[in-house]
Amino acid sequence: MKVGVILNRVFRLENNPLFEYISQNKEDIDQCYFIIPQEKFDKEAEMKANYYYGTLQKFVDTLHDYDIQPFLVDYDELTHFCKDKGISEVVLAGDIMSYHEEKYDILQQSASFKNEGISVVSVRANHYFKPSKTRNNKGEPYKVFTSFYKKWRPYLMKRSVFSYDIKDIAKMGVKSQQKVKGDYSQYGISEADAQYRWSDFLDKDIENYNTNREYLPEVLTSQLSIYLAYGVLDIIQIFNDLLENYDKDEQNYESFIRELIFREFYYVLMTYYPETAHQSFKDKYRDLQWSYNKENFNLWKEGKTGFLIIDAAMGELNTTGYMHNRMRMVVSQFLTKDLFIDWTWGEEYFRQKLIDYDSASNVHGWQWSASTGTDAVPYFRMFNPVRQSERFDKDALYIKKFVQTLNDIDAKYLHDTHKYERQIKEQGIELGKDYPKQIVNHSESRTHVMSEFKALE
Ligand SMILES: Cc1cc2nc3c(=O)[nH]c(=O)nc-3n(C[C@H](O)[C@H](O)[C@H](O)COP(=O)(O)OP(=O)(O)OC[C@H]3O[C@@H](n4cnc5c(N)ncnc54)[C@H](O)[C@@H]3O)c2cc1C
Repeated sequence: MKVGVILNRVFRLENNPLFEYISQNKEDIDQCYFIIPQEKFDKEAEMKANYYYGTLQKFVDTLHDYDIQPFLVDYDELTHFCKDKGISEVVLAGDIMSYHEEKYDILQQSASFKNEGISVVSVRANHYFKPSKTRNNKGEPYKVFTSFYKKWRPYLMKRSVFSYDIKDIAKMGVKSQQKVKGDYSQYGISEADAQYRWSDFLDKDIENYNTNREYLPEVLTSQLSIYLAYGVLDIIQIFNDLLENYDKDEQNYESFIRELIFREFYYVLMTYYPETAHQSFKDKYRDLQWSYNKENFNLWKEGKTGFLIIDAAMGELNTTGYMHNRMRMVVSQFLTKDLFIDWTWGEEYFRQKLIDYDSASNVHGWQWSASTGTDAVPYFRMFNPVRQSERFDKDALYIKKFVQTLNDIDAKYLHDTHKYERQIKEQGIELGKDYPKQIVNHSESRTHVMSEFKALE
């Protein structure tokens, strides 16, 4: 039998369940084609594309070091390629949610293979829990995070790692001469570097996780979201490492584990309710009369809202492809509440920009902020951007890092430029000329949000 091993964002040599599958079934396999389907990106997603190709190129180089020479195939050509090579079975990761395009998802890819008579083996590669095993007593998916967490947290345990020998796997592979075109050496991350950074985080920062995660001027969290989005690290290994070191500092370790279980929860929800990628989880809010004001949307995207904390966060996103969790919550609330713009627009913009984009976490993060999701923030608990700025960026270090025009202004004036317009002018910056004025009045927005939601209660 000829088998296609579809390395769809499982860019790792260690703990790779696709290699394990080959090793376990080697008696039935004559030849393997290692295939990497390549994703395509829009112009707006150029930074993310570079990160993707950089990571891919590093992975291909590592595979070459072990004499595995994968075929690089466009998604549009994937089924045709397999058919042409006489492949009768493909094995692929069934739980990746970080693709740039929805058409790369497992459901669509599986259907396409099956139409051509190619059987599909789908394995867990990127999540810990299997959605079908996480239902409640009534046989339904959990819809509230705390209940999911309480029920499934005790089931986390150290699990055995894989036992394949990569040299044996390499011997079974048909070789291609292909390489990733272009030089992406300065972008992306290798598996070795991701392992190094993860163990460095475990050695140093995790023991201050609860404090560090709210610190804005620098990223002191794990950035595991990036490594998980490309499958560079395995979630089972991550949980194993956390459980092994847990006694060192239960509080911080538990907080961290809780966040990873959030990721699992959103993955399970998205598996059961894929339609929520585009529509409100709560039906009663499907008729909200969102705004589609493109001018305001563009000002938000470009970080020109006049609320410096928002502008700084959008600056972080646009220049690094990453944004702190706190700020993801703040800017998404600003878009969906202060500007009352449809959350799907924000979700789509994050998809173009975030190098750690994951459909389940992003969609449900946005629906949380928009108050349309399951277990979401209630609409009447609306963030005030000025209060958020005062609380989380007291000395305006984050603001000054990403909005350099106002570097010379006293920090205390930067949280609310409207209130301190005169003082800011005295220090050399005229609002409306040198920097945009605030584009909305927060308390008027609040009144509007309350009445729109109340109308549908
Ligand atoms: C509007 C919005 C959009 C988001 N979009 C994404 C996205 O596209 N991809 C993504 O991975 N995360 C997303 N998140 C969740 C969270 O912001 C990121 O996972 C986190 O900031 C990544 O940084 P880190 O790895 O350093 O996090 P750490 O604080 O080190 O957390 C460790 C891991 O826990 C998980 N995690 C942490 N917070 C959350 C959360 N709120 N929801 C789900 N999982 C979480 C992630 O896997 C993360 O890597 C979004 C949140 C919001 C509010």
